[in-house]
Amino acid sequence: MKIGVLTSGGDAPGMNAAVRAVCRSALYKGMEVVGIMRGYNGLLNGEVIEMNAKTVSGIIQRGGTCLYTARCNEFRNMDGVLKGKKKCEEMGLDGIVVIGGDGSFRGAADLSKAGIPCIGIPGTIDNDIACTDYTIGYDTAMNTAMEMVDKIKDTAQSHDRCSVVEVMGRKAGYIAINVAAAVGAEACITLEKDYDLDEIARRMIESKAQGKTHFIIIVAEGIGKTDYITKTLQDLTGVESRATVLGHVQRGGSPTLRDRVAATRLGYHAVELLEQGIGNRVCGFRKGEVYDVDIQEALSMKKPFEDELYDILYKTAF
Ligand code: ADP
Repeated sequence: MKIGVLTSGGDAPGMNAAVRAVCRSALYKGMEVVGIMRGYNGLLNGEVIEMNAKTVSGIIQRGGTCLYTARCNEFRNMDGVLKGKKKCEEMGLDGIVVIGGDGSFRGAADLSKAGIPCIGIPGTIDNDIACTDYTIGYDTAMNTAMEMVDKIKDTAQSHDRCSVVEVMGRKAGYIAINVAAAVGAEACITLEKDYDLDEIARRMIESKAQGKTHFIIIVAEGIGKTDYITKTLQDLTGVESRATVLGHVQRGGSPTLRDRVAATRLGYHAVELLEQGIGNRVCGFRKGEVYDVDIQEALSMKKPFEDELYDILYKTAF
């Protein structure tokens, strides 16, 4: 058998560990492996590299992705997908492992339908993929954000300030709520929950009257109003407030143990499925166990928010 592996969509720490696991698992099972560069673009352009055990040496601890990643508009329509199928046939590929997010899985579903079995592995810092409890890169991103906010907290404390910190997550607030809990933030503002700036300001003023001098408010990227929130809280409370957008620092860095192990387990499972000729599945975690699910079913799932943690944050913030 011969399989390909690609990374697509936004990058995430741990993607390299997944590429390594796919490559080494395939070699162990006697398969040939190619690395497809820059997502689906590399498939359409024939930009592929033969991989051996050494190709993936020394990458498990590195952030980013050695296969590069990109978006590929051509792959969004059927002509692009059929061109991809033709390329697979020319290269003798019996299947592809696609490491990415929901968008990348749609491409994998289309290519599977066209006759090339594809297996998705969830790789995104946002943890916004419903079919899995955990996505590769999430732990590293949260830890990076937590460390950054710890540093911001030092200076907020020294200057009696309120720091409003925007963290990534696209439309999802998973990074935001966990980072907020981990840094002891006074509030967390996400799209999943209604928020009331007057109420947050009232709680700040009350605690200020009791001697509290500095505040951390975590805002999820999807809210899109970090500057407005900062100015409004300053106007309502009289506490000098500063906005910080953490940005892409959260996407980089050496992956944590959790991300490396998750990537290794999912990579191995993906190759096991392709070995059996199975495609159109996404691998993920449910209650700590690796499992797989049909891609269409995966895309139609809805992920619950961390309501319990949100509630605990509210009750322990002041
Ligand atoms: P992510 O995988 O992180 O969600 P994107 O949504 O940008 O990132 O998708 C990555 C790539 O997957 C796109 O550039 C495109 O090549 C492919 N893709 C996205 N949506 C579809 C679709 N509906 N059909 C086929 N391919 C798609």
